[in-house]
Amino acid sequence: MAEALRRPFVARRLHRPALRHSGIHRERTCEAAGRTWRCLAPATESGRQSSRPFAQVHGAFLNNRLTIVDTSRIWPFTTRNTFNSRLNLMHALAVRNLVLHLKEHDRIKDAQGKARIGICTPYAAQAKLLREILKSHALDNATVRASTVHGFQGDERSLMVLDLVDSVGERNAGIFLQANQLEDSGAKLMNVALSRAQEGLVIVANLTFLDQKLPSDAILRGLMHDIQRSAQIVDVKEILALCPVVEDLKRFGSQPELDPECLRTGLFGGRDFAKLCRFDMENAKQSIVVFSAFITQERAAQMGDLFRQKIAGGVKVRCITRPPNRNGTIPEEQGRTALKALEALGVGIDLRNDIHEKVVVVDNTIVWFGSLNPLSHTPRTSELMARVDNAGVASHLASILSARRRSAEELERGVFTEPENPRCEKCSDWSVLVRGKHGPFFSCVNYPRCNWTQNIDAPRRRKN
Ligand SMILES: [Zn+2]
Repeated sequence: MAEALRRPFVARRLHRPALRHSGIHRERTCEAAGRTWRCLAPATESGRQSSRPFAQVHGAFLNNRLTIVDTSRIWPFTTRNTFNSRLNLMHALAVRNLVLHLKEHDRIKDAQGKARIGICTPYAAQAKLLREILKSHALDNATVRASTVHGFQGDERSLMVLDLVDSVGERNAGIFLQANQLEDSGAKLMNVALSRAQEGLVIVANLTFLDQKLPSDAILRGLMHDIQRSAQIVDVKEILALCPVVEDLKRFGSQPELDPECLRTGLFGGRDFAKLCRFDMENAKQSIVVFSAFITQERAAQMGDLFRQKIAGGVKVRCITRPPNRNGTIPEEQGRTALKALEALGVGIDLRNDIHEKVVVVDNTIVWFGSLNPLSHTPRTSELMARVDNAGVASHLASILSARRRSAEELERGVFTEPENPRCEKCSDWSVLVRGKHGPFFSCVNYPRCNWTQNIDAPRRRKN
């Protein structure tokens, strides 16, 4: 594997910033970008006072002071919590594996017992997710700090990891990443991440997304373009492979035959995902919660028998998907039939106008997430799902994916497995969670024929 990593990874690269602005603005931007790069350069190019090669310091897989982990090839979806803060599970998983690998090589603390690694991200939700994940591996925030920029004021680390989060699922790069003035908070974030790194910097980024979405005058575009010339660019699959999922999969015994590549990286294609996820669901003791942007009759029928058995055994099953009239290319009537069939089995159905999360949570412990829609994918797809067996991650994800804000105590009681949408009080049909200008609300699935709506905070009066 080390050999593979030494090969230059000629993957996605950010194109040179094509400054389309003219006159004063253009000059100002160039000057700003130049100043940023100059003030950042000492920390990155010459590596401050450290004379040891980076590889020796951080383990053989990182051969360079500057490393970019490109996540383009695994479709790492960005999602948002109830406060609209962005997070990215695939990125979090990659950072976790990197940290666990460093832990394995005894690189978490220096000789004086001082914490060596800092993880910086623009978004509070991602910082919290990273802390939750690391906590579940017995790494508290004093040992490996994961924080937004504010957590690193005046602090230095041997190795800084900058997780840029923004990726597919978002229309645009976030305001932090779009910064084009040194005074912008996004520029300060980059400055902190880069200037606090004494020996090495790892940037986790979806380069393809950034290349498409970063404005031409964004400081980050110029910076990444410069950095990538001296940086080692590593495919995220190599980072995921640092922490093989074999341990996680021990409970499967020798049962399912899996593609060796998926055992190496922990990423499962359509066929293996279908096989393993079904196995997890068959073993469910309490609950199965499925988020799927789309639903097909075929997949609903395949799942139907399993769901019926589990529900008979006392397992709660909940599906969250789009309303039939927004079910992609699938005809409205087919989507409705599939949902009605699941509901008749006792599956709780919640509809949301905008959902791109593809997630399965079993027993509030096992989490499947990625780019495959669990209720509509076909085995031929090239998209991928990852699996994490971790109650802390599952609980954090449950709070993010809930329509309402949930307390830790509520999540412990298992409210995540209960449907959230009320029934329409006019026509008794389903309601749909809609994100409006003034916040989320429920609307009748038959809108505009039925115009019933309800505020999300209204007391619940379910009829079913
Ligand atoms: Zn209605």
